[in-house]
Amino acid sequence: MEVNDEVVIIGAGISGLATALALHKKGIKSVVMERSESLRNTTGSAIGIRQNGWRALHQLGVAEILRQTAIPIHRERIVSLADGKVEEIPMGGETRCLRRKDLIDTLYDALPPATVKFGCQLESIKLDPNTTKPVLRFIDGSSIFAKVVIGCDGVKSIVADFLNLKPTKMFPFCGVRGLSNYPNGHSFAHEFLRIRKHNKLVGRLPIDDHLVYWFCAQPYVPRDERNWEDPEEIRRSTLDLLSDYPKEIQEMIEITDAKTLSFSHLWYRAPWDLLMGTFCKGTVTVAGDAMHVMGPFLGQGGSAGLEDAVVLARNLAQMGSFHVETEKKVTVQGVEEAFNQYVKQRKMRVVRLSLQTYLTGMLLGASSRLKKFICIVLLVLLFRNPSGHIDYDCGSL
Ligand SMILES: Cc1cc2nc3c(=O)[nH]c(=O)nc-3n(C[C@H](O)[C@H](O)[C@H](O)COP(=O)(O)OP(=O)(O)OC[C@H]3O[C@@H](n4cnc5c(N)ncnc54)[C@H](O)[C@@H]3O)c2cc1C
Repeated sequence: MEVNDEVVIIGAGISGLATALALHKKGIKSVVMERSESLRNTTGSAIGIRQNGWRALHQLGVAEILRQTAIPIHRERIVSLADGKVEEIPMGGETRCLRRKDLIDTLYDALPPATVKFGCQLESIKLDPNTTKPVLRFIDGSSIFAKVVIGCDGVKSIVADFLNLKPTKMFPFCGVRGLSNYPNGHSFAHEFLRIRKHNKLVGRLPIDDHLVYWFCAQPYVPRDERNWEDPEEIRRSTLDLLSDYPKEIQEMIEITDAKTLSFSHLWYRAPWDLLMGTFCKGTVTVAGDAMHVMGPFLGQGGSAGLEDAVVLARNLAQMGSFHVETEKKVTVQGVEEAFNQYVKQRKMRVVRLSLQTYLTGMLLGASSRLKKFICIVLLVLLFRNPSGHIDYDCGSL
């Protein structure tokens, strides 16, 4: 069986690519095993990045490239269609909405060639009884001994199962997303617009002067027979749902590029499971959604994954011992301690982020006044400054 001396990362999403890049910047070689046959840079349309995420991107050395792709967002405008209330809040810190393709491609391009191996789907992970090294088995029947494994394999993570983490749960909500292009330019302000009516929420963020990202969060319908794989069905259903929304919202959905329309269930790892969970075992750990998938209500899941990458690589570089002759290689010695430190430094950050996200989501979906009241009280008591999470600084690499 092949023995892999490099750090093996499972999954080439935002988190896996950012982790590989952070390790590369610390001189630690890694290989990323991705189940898809090519880079997954067309899903999910766009992603909002607040100042905590920009700090992490700066550490990864890609912030300046990405700034060229998206305009800064200056304020939040929250409109309640039910009672006509409008609230305007200046955006604290740097906020931009990136096309996911730009983010994924930029992270990928910054990696040494051949770091990512495509078409490698992890099937299982076990500890070898003799060596206690992790053995990774892939669905093509191949297996490798890996010295160090980082699971960045998303919401249905096989590495998280190996760590015995509790299963992720589904919010009673789903999200539709898309990108709309205005060839002659849109006239929207550089703002994050949120329009709410009862338990429906539409968000709109300009990416540049022509391209706009939008999302719609709506209650999940059990035994729904609509075909959410069909972009035209997504468009029709969303237009029906938002028939009482302003005309410019309808028009935005009508002109959305069908290729960018997607529907997703919203998953989360319960904050109390995050608090109690054990996120590393020996030289195996998790990062990104595999560790802390959360709803999109604060738009922080991706940025939290970028922060993980910086903290993880910093700890590995500090604690691991290395061969310095050529490229540094992590040895087993120190890795366990590095992972313990990483989990310790990330735990309360992700518990608080996911608790605030959870309560915000529950408030949006609360059916009774009592539930709404409880969510509001907890949010006010626990998160006095609702934007406090963007002040977090993951530190230097
Ligand atoms: C509607 C919506 C809106 C969002 N908006 C925002 C936002 O505005 N801002 C923000 O910061 N975050 C946002 N998020 C969250 C963000 O999208 C995620 O947190 C982020 O994409 C997670 O990245 P990841 O790399 O951890 O996981 P993923 O993107 O899921 O990547 C996992 C990768 O692992 C691969 N993989 C999975 N299993 C295996 C296997 N067995 N073997 C090999 N490879 C495997 C997959 O193919 C994939 O490439 C939003 C999420 C949703 C659903």
